[in-house]
Amino acid sequence: MLKIENFIDGEFKSSINEEFLDNYNPATGEKVGEISSSGPRDVEKAVKAAEDAFFGWSSLSMDERINWLEKIGDALEAKKEEIAKVESLDTGKPISLARRVDANRSITNFRFFAQFAKNQEAQIFEMNDATNYVHRKPVGVVGLITPWNLPLYLLTWKIAPALVMGNTIVAKPSELTPLTANLFAKTLQEIDFPKGVFNIVHGLGPSAGQAILEHPNVKAISFTGGTQTGRIVAKIAAPLFKKLSLELGGKNATVILNDADILQAAKGAAKAGFTNSGQVCLCGSRILIDESIADDFTKHLIEEIEAMKVGNPQEEDTDIGSVISPQHLEKVESYIQLALEEGGEILTGGNRPKLDKVNSNGAFLMPTLISGLDIKSRTATEEIFGPVVTLHTFKGDEEAIKMANSTDYGLAGSVWTSDLQRGKEFSKQIDTGIMWVNTWLHRDLRTPFGGVKNSGVGREGGQWSLSFFSEMTNICVKND
Ligand code: NDP
Repeated sequence: MLKIENFIDGEFKSSINEEFLDNYNPATGEKVGEISSSGPRDVEKAVKAAEDAFFGWSSLSMDERINWLEKIGDALEAKKEEIAKVESLDTGKPISLARRVDANRSITNFRFFAQFAKNQEAQIFEMNDATNYVHRKPVGVVGLITPWNLPLYLLTWKIAPALVMGNTIVAKPSELTPLTANLFAKTLQEIDFPKGVFNIVHGLGPSAGQAILEHPNVKAISFTGGTQTGRIVAKIAAPLFKKLSLELGGKNATVILNDADILQAAKGAAKAGFTNSGQVCLCGSRILIDESIADDFTKHLIEEIEAMKVGNPQEEDTDIGSVISPQHLEKVESYIQLALEEGGEILTGGNRPKLDKVNSNGAFLMPTLISGLDIKSRTATEEIFGPVVTLHTFKGDEEAIKMANSTDYGLAGSVWTSDLQRGKEFSKQIDTGIMWVNTWLHRDLRTPFGGVKNSGVGREGGQWSLSFFSEMTNICVKND
């Protein structure tokens, strides 16, 4: 039985209260371990360790910190298969997906930010009689709070830029998925990474997470999670004048225009809707289809969905694993019930699959497509975060734009068309942080990433991450 302890000042330690939370494999229902259930006293220790380590780490040159990032990237690469296995076990996601997306990206995050930091040029503004130098200082001790859907991927997306800019870290991963963060801490220990620079406090959001938010010496909070939790985070951190980055929920539209390649669009919409059982903040959980091609498209879309293999995440050809927990499964199913009450019709799915012994108690749901709902219905406007997608028809691009913009969220979306210029112009009118034309989840890590409306505040990625994890100051030198 695994025992997951906090990682403070380079050592693994149980929480001070010696209390533990159970950790389950959601695909089997089996308990796989116990994790420390930390509170404010543990956070105090972690912050102290991070403060003590700050001077040494921030005094290293940028090149020395870049070397550390490269070393971490190499150490993770050597454990790539282990990361994928552990992530799949903890989340119930297919091993092939964990390998392709989670493990790959966790390694890439370090390599990308090492390279990106290397390529930074000094910003200098000349005046007639003076020269201005833009100087970037680390913020100090930063708090990183992350969700369960892409555990190590999202955590390392914050760790790498925070480290390279000279900050020290107190992190709290989701209590549902602590395993890869623990593996990451072990990896740091193995490569003799400086103690106290990176610390983990495991436990529940309202105790461990909130203590990080409330700690006066944590100077910045980078949070990824639900919009409702984001409100709590903002309410606590804003009056303390902490730097704040909020990456929150989404209810993204996949829009199929009347000139789209129907087969390509059906494949794209199925992938956008059901990757990771619909548990990616960027998933296209609403499909909007021009009514002139709706019948043909819907037929192909259902074929795509029904061809997905739902089942044991450890099998290489599985497309859809379990959702994160039995409680989450019930929440997702309650939306299917709501959809029926709101007049929806289930076109495919809607039920739990019958799986063999090992997965018979897992939190599985068939990928579900529902039509006939009003675009303003609760099912079509609230984030379900599971394998449930709604299908809506529109007449012409103007109505499609209105429908795409009709939720409080604004994270992402995609549009499918054979006219790339039309796709680009259409995208400009959608109120989201990112739009894809004829693709989905195609990421260049240099670009700004983040949401508008209730999907977040701030941007991550390339320059934006480096700016968030630093304070920019100006040094103005009067010429002789
Ligand atoms: P939650 O908001 O429930 O949790 C996110 C993190 O916040 C967890 O570590 C959680 O701890 C912690 N937390 C909860 N309450 C508090 C609190 N009071 N103070 C401090 N921390 C707290 O999100 P989920 O984990 O359920 O993740 C799913 C959500 O994340 C979806 O809404 C999804 O859209 C969003 N998301 C957004 C992304 C983006 O880039 N915009 C990317 C990925 C996901 P614990 O759960 O352990 O109690």
